[in-house]
Parts: sequence; C-alpha cells; structure tokens
Amino acid sequence: MAYDDSNIFAKILRGEIPNDMVMETEHTLAFNDIAPQRPVHVLVIPKGAYVSSDDFSARASDAEIADFFRTVGEVARQRGVAESGYRLISNAGEDGHQEVPHFHMHVIGGAPAGPMLKKQD
Ligand code: AMP
Repeated sequence: MAYDDSNIFAKILRGEIPNDMVMETEHTLAFNDIAPQRPVHVLVIPKGAYVSSDDFSARASDAEIADFFRTVGEVARQRGVAESGYRLISNAGEDGHQEVPHFHMHVIGGAPAGPMLKKQD
C-alpha cells in the first residue's frame, strides 16, 4: 500500500492540525488520542512516512526503529502505567481495522483493558 500523505497524522506532523503532545524525539511523536478508550491512551507515530508496522520494519532505519520503541516504553513509564500494565495495539490494513494509514502504536492503560479480542460471531 502506497503512503497517502493526506492522512490526519501526516497533517499533524506538518503542523497543519494541532495535537495534544506527550513527547517528541528526533524520529518520533507521541500525543494523546482524541477519543481515549482508557484514562491513558497515547498514540506513538514515526515522523517518517510509513503506512503500517510491516512497512516501518521493512523500510525504516535502525535509528528510527530504536527511537520509536524507546519512545513507546518511555510513554508507558512517564504516564505511570508501566507498573499497573498497559496494552499496545497497532492496527494494520482492512482486517486490522486501521483507520489512519500512518503507522501508529496505541499505548492504552490506566484501567483494565479487558479480553484481547471479541470472539467472532
Ligand atoms: P486506528 O483505528 O488504529 O487507525 O486508530 C486511529 C486513532 O486515531 C483512533 O483511536 C482515533 O481516535 C485517533 N485519532 C483520529 N484523529 C485524531 C487526532 N486528530 N488527534 C488524535 N487522535 C486522533
């Protein structure tokens, strides 16, 4: 899937729409989800143009990948959920129910996440 730079996270990265920033590093931005599912719900995104986890892991530099996952961990620690627990979710593509086609990791915590997935009907 080709990267479409009209997606909302690309607009956030270009400064065209605001975000509620949690932290920023050289290659990574973390900001609060606009519709939080739990008391802590942070989105971590690479600044580079990657569609999904598989795209990111295939094309990003080692520095970008290291920076991204260090930021995911730092967000969990800084938001106080590293001890109580949290869930990482990265939806990809149609079956993954990805709404925004710029790779992102949800960091969700502050209350029990519940079962991993609903059973299929
Ligand atoms: P996904 O379904 O994994 O692609 O998740 C996209 C997430 O982006 C959802 O949790 C939305 O609530 C969130 N979202 C959409 N627009 C914004 C925005 N402008 N700022 C912060 N979060 C957003």
